[in-house]
Amino acid sequence: MGNIPSFRQALAPVLLFSAQAALAQLAPPATDIRVERVAEGIYVLYGNGGNIGLSIGADATFLIDDQFAPMTPRIQAAIAELGAPPVRFVLNTHWHSDHTGGNEKLGEAGAVIVAHDNVRARMSVPQMLEFFQQAVPASPPGALPVITFSDQASFHLNGDEIRALHVPHAHTDGDVLVHFRKANVLHAGDTFFNGNYPFIDVDSGGSVAGLIACVEQMLALVDEQTRIIPGHGPLAGRAELEAYRDMLVETTGRIRALLAEGLDVEAVVAAAPTAAYDERWSGAFINGERYVRMVARAVGMGK
Ligand SMILES: [Zn+2]
Repeated sequence: MGNIPSFRQALAPVLLFSAQAALAQLAPPATDIRVERVAEGIYVLYGNGGNIGLSIGADATFLIDDQFAPMTPRIQAAIAELGAPPVRFVLNTHWHSDHTGGNEKLGEAGAVIVAHDNVRARMSVPQMLEFFQQAVPASPPGALPVITFSDQASFHLNGDEIRALHVPHAHTDGDVLVHFRKANVLHAGDTFFNGNYPFIDVDSGGSVAGLIACVEQMLALVDEQTRIIPGHGPLAGRAELEAYRDMLVETTGRIRALLAEGLDVEAVVAAAPTAAYDERWSGAFINGERYVRMVARAVGMGK
């Protein structure tokens, strides 16, 4: 991480897959939005940042996450194109700016921002992501969630119960899973990267064991019909989530074992403990080597 190119790469992404991400900053330029129908009245919006979940219907327009700030007009336009009124509630799955960047403008436009207690706490003060050598300034007051909760909260909207469940110390310390109980849809936030090694933000309270426990909790919640919106990557089902769980358990187990044998991080990297998984899970955002370094650092920190 010492030289300039790797530092720049590291700055890139709170969390994008594309190579363009390497040049991105906290507010990268807007991209087109692609809308995919998930279930009756429920959509996923792919753009620049974490995947957005959208519920429209008789009661209110409800949004899960809102990508980077420059995306807001395009998100609003995509919602209008579906014939829905402006956003009334935004639920943030966690504090990262590729999931909360739209809070300020959507709040100004009348949306109520809701999140776990720790999301507001972290957004209120500067954050440092050591793994990316990235300092994140405090969010403006208008971007902060105005309703927060500690354990869970339910939204009774559009003919469904949309339940937000806090999962401790997973990707961060403020993650929620969002479960549409009737529609059988789950938004996983960044506890699920579909098709790429995950980022585990230990500097924000995430942990390896917590992430695996969270994935097990999700597997207990879903069945073969459940449609799962990952924080990043394409829409998934139970099979993709099981493959992700298996990859996490196997790779982190190998890394732990090598560290327990007394190998240092360089030797662990040289042992290529993710070799069997890199073809499916290594990506532009986090490749096999970065993933091994990240997990080894987390384990070394007791996380
Ligand atoms: Zn994240």
